[in-house]
Amino acid sequence: MLAAMVLPCPFSPLSPAVMGGDDGFMCLAYNESLLAWKEDEVPVGAVLVLDGKVLICEHNRVRQNGDPSAHGEMLALRSAAKLLGDWRLCGCTLYTTKEPCPMCSGACAMARVARVVFGVADPLMGCLGGCGHDLSQVATFYHRFTAKGGVLANEIRPVLRTFFQQRRNGSIKGVAKNQTFPLTNFHPRPN
Ligand SMILES: [Zn+2]
Repeated sequence: MLAAMVLPCPFSPLSPAVMGGDDGFMCLAYNESLLAWKEDEVPVGAVLVLDGKVLICEHNRVRQNGDPSAHGEMLALRSAAKLLGDWRLCGCTLYTTKEPCPMCSGACAMARVARVVFGVADPLMGCLGGCGHDLSQVATFYHRFTAKGGVLANEIRPVLRTFFQQRRNGSIKGVAKNQTFPLTNFHPRPN
């Protein structure tokens, strides 16, 4: 019954041409975002990498966990900290398909990640420059990190656009008819 409510996902997983590198790891994040879609979650995927090795692949689970903090990035940070036995994720790179929100950008600073690579910018909630605030480079914070946007943005943008377009069109009765996410504002930021 519940499965029938899920919006059909017209996108297929990507196969990275080369395993590793920003494009390769972002492919994995993209594929995670499709898993989120299939679970009726906003399609955002996140991958945490250390020394060129994938530690964790995660995706949004807000709806299924009933947890507003269950963004893919947060779940990836938590799982990686458990895996490494250290809350400081020094040297780690977080790949995420969408520019991180205030919570996730802040968590990256708290977790001491070295680098965040994202796909599409979010001019409303993105806090690595997209909304006008950049939490990666706050002078008074204990930790700053580098951020790079626009990776696989051309592949990721249609996924988010189509997902919210379907919701807006009321493709599924009763699903998020009040969704106000912008359809046209996703755009890659310069690296
Ligand atoms: Zn977030």
